[in-house]
Parts: sequence; structure tokens; C-alpha cells
Amino acid sequence: MLRRDAINLERNGPKTMEKKIETLCVQGGYTPKNGEARQIPIYQSTTFKYDTSEDMGKLFDLETAGYFYSRLLNPTCDLVAKKICELEGGAAAMLTSSGQAANFFAVFNIAVAGDHVISSSTIYGGTYNLFAVTMKRMGVEFTFVSPDCSAQELEAAFRPNTKAVFGETIANPALTVLDIEKFAAAAHSHGVPLIVDNTFATPINCRPFDFGADIVTHSTTKYMDGHGSAVGGCIVDSGNFNWLEHADKFPGLCKPDESYHGIIYAERFGKAAFIQKATAQLMRDFGVTPSPYSAYILNLGLESLHVRMERHCANALAVARFLKSHPSVAWVSYPSLEGDKYYELAKKYMPKGTCGVVSFGVRGGRSAAEAFMKKLGVYAIETHVADARSCCLHPASSTHRQMNDEELKAAGVGPELVRLSCGIESAEDLISDLAQALDS
Ligand SMILES: *Cc1c(COP(=O)(O)O)cnc(C)c1O
Repeated sequence: MLRRDAINLERNGPKTMEKKIETLCVQGGYTPKNGEARQIPIYQSTTFKYDTSEDMGKLFDLETAGYFYSRLLNPTCDLVAKKICELEGGAAAMLTSSGQAANFFAVFNIAVAGDHVISSSTIYGGTYNLFAVTMKRMGVEFTFVSPDCSAQELEAAFRPNTKAVFGETIANPALTVLDIEKFAAAAHSHGVPLIVDNTFATPINCRPFDFGADIVTHSTTKYMDGHGSAVGGCIVDSGNFNWLEHADKFPGLCKPDESYHGIIYAERFGKAAFIQKATAQLMRDFGVTPSPYSAYILNLGLESLHVRMERHCANALAVARFLKSHPSVAWVSYPSLEGDKYYELAKKYMPKGTCGVVSFGVRGGRSAAEAFMKKLGVYAIETHVADARSCCLHPASSTHRQMNDEELKAAGVGPELVRLSCGIESAEDLISDLAQALDS
């Protein structure tokens, strides 16, 4: 067994006292023993020492738990993965070096050349490119469906070789809200898992497993780090999907892995099978591993995630209400704003709040949007969101510029759209900054 800490063994054994999510943000993942470091130690070591070759052999055969090489697994990264696993209420988790790597692994772990995946069309531009261009080149076909599609339309997208369904809890930057139960029901009726990118909501505002999602991914670069310090990603498996029940669809998990001495992941590792396979095969071969130091920084962010999310959401709601009332604003999109198209879905899936990102259209289109952005002072122009510092972006001329007009529209990103990421500064300062830029 590779992972020591990022597997939530309590789920299989005696239940310990359930902790609230705020406590898990601060103390989850790591419980120091007598005399040990209070803060998570940084194991800045590529390798680990063993007394005998036999000890090491057992590790390589995945027979015993332990660390042998930091490309696959490092204790610091593992402790932080465990914390995120606990926040999501999952069974096992792993960190990756980026959100892109997390989404790639989450899909490629079960869908390979000749397979098909259904994805919501309103997803992060980088993920869209990964799916529609790069993974297509690798032989994996994607069908993109509107997150608002009917159950019948969703049904019609399935093929015999469909292996997964994918969507974002709150889409970046379209701010559509995924009807997780609708997508989970469709996926499960076809014997495949639902993968949800929960980056924008974070487990503070939504726990997709509670609504039937099977696997959750994160770009930890966003709210989890929250300080614009470390790029990273995470995959959490709920452990709920029964791979062996659909063994014909998932040979990678249910048939012997010849590159690992004929191991059958789903039989050997149960609820941890998905993460064990992604570590043993994909991390071994692709090596998109985070540094222990990046994991340590991520953990500092996680310690205040619950406090920051509350402020991000309060600031964004105040900003959205202000924009809605401003004559130079054509429209505002924010799922927690009364009257928003996704207000009801947001209330159902994220009753505490959604995220700090607000999109809106400046009257006058593309050129007016660009002129407006130049006047901002507190909001900085950045290809980033979900930072403690407020920032803004014009997606049509930056992150989404590889898309043609039709694809832009399908992704819900018009040319007049400005995306604001409201930080945790004073709401009053954020609103005055927007007011002076809109008025001038
Ligand atoms: C940023 C982002 C990603 C990609 O993550 P990186 O850490 O930048 O690789 C994936 N999904 C969503 C929703 C994102 O916002």
C-alpha cells in the first residue's frame, strides 16, 4: 500500500468523534504525538531509508504502507491530502502539482484511448483545452453538454464506451451552478462515476459527495491556498463508487496491472483503489508531484479557508448588489444574488454562500469593458481568481482567447464579460473602486 495518511481509515473502522469543518480546516490531517512538531513538518527529502532490501521490496509490491520516493508520495504532501480528504468527507486523496494535473489524472485514471467522457460545456478554459484538444489527441472523446440540459438531453449524450461524467460545482468563469444530483443520477444509471471540480465552492460551501458525486478535484491554487503563493491540485475519492460492479467498463481498476505485479486495485484497496492506482501508475509515470514546501504553504492557506470563504462571499454579494443597481452595468451574474438564474440551485447546493467571483457586462461591450478595467485601483488585472487580494480579468482577450465565438458562447463567456474576484479587503473600498471606474 502506498499511502499511509491520506486514506480515511475511520470510514472502515470505529468512528471517531465527528469534527466540524472549521476545526478540520485548522487541525485536520495531522495530529502530533507527544513532543512532536505542532505545525506540519516539511519532509524535504526525495527518498526514504530502510533497514533491509526486503522491507523495501514489500513497499514496491504495495504490500506494506510507507514512503520510498517523493515522486510518488511524500509525508508532508500526504498529510495535507488527508486534511482535504477530511474536509470533503472522502475516503482517500492525493495532491498533484496543479489543478490541471488533478483533472487530467481524475479522468485519465479511468478513461483511455477509445473511451468517451461527458462534460459540462461551461468549464474552466484550461480544462476545456485539456479535454477537447490534448486528451482528444490521446484518443479520449468528449461530448460537451450544457449544465442546464434536460435529463433527456443528458441521457442522449451517453455511449456504450462512456466512462465518466464531469462538471464544475460553480463554473469558472461562467458561474453556472451544476445540478449535481441530476448529473450524478444520469452517471450512475449508466454505471459510471461523476467527477466534480469543486475549486470555486470549496468544501466550506459545498461537499459534492453529499449529493452523489463520486470523485472531487481541486485547483488548490485558488481559495485553498488563497494567497497566490503555490500552484497545486488535489483529487479526493468518496470511495462510494463500486468499480467491481462495473468491472467490464473499468479494466484498469478491476483487471490485473501487469506493471505492478498483477495487482487488482479494486480488490486490493477497496475504497482507496482509485487513488492508489492514480498514484502507483499515473504519478509514477507522469511525475506531476507537488513539492513538500508547496504542500506546506497550501496547508497554511487551509488553516484559514473557512474564515476567508465567509468574507469572500460577503464581499462578493455586496459588490454584486452594487453592480446590479448601477446604470452602466448591463447584467450581473452571481449565483448568490437574488434573481440570478442559478439562485435556487445555489441555495440548494451552497446555502452558506458560493464564492468570491462575480461576472458582469459593462454597457458598451468589449471596448467599454477594457476602458473600465484600466481605471481600477484596488482590483488588479490578473489571470487569477480566489486570492485574498481582489483582481479582475477580461476572459475573451486573455484566458479564453483560444476559443472561437461559438465556443465562447457555449462556455458562457461573452466579449463584454468582466470577471471580478473579490478578495477579503473592505467591501466599502471594493465598491468605491468599482464606482469611480464605472462613473468615469
Ligand atoms: C484554475 C482552475 C483549474 C486549473 O488549476 P491550476 O492549478 O491552474 O492548474 C481547474 N479548474 C478550475 C475550476 C480552476 O479555476
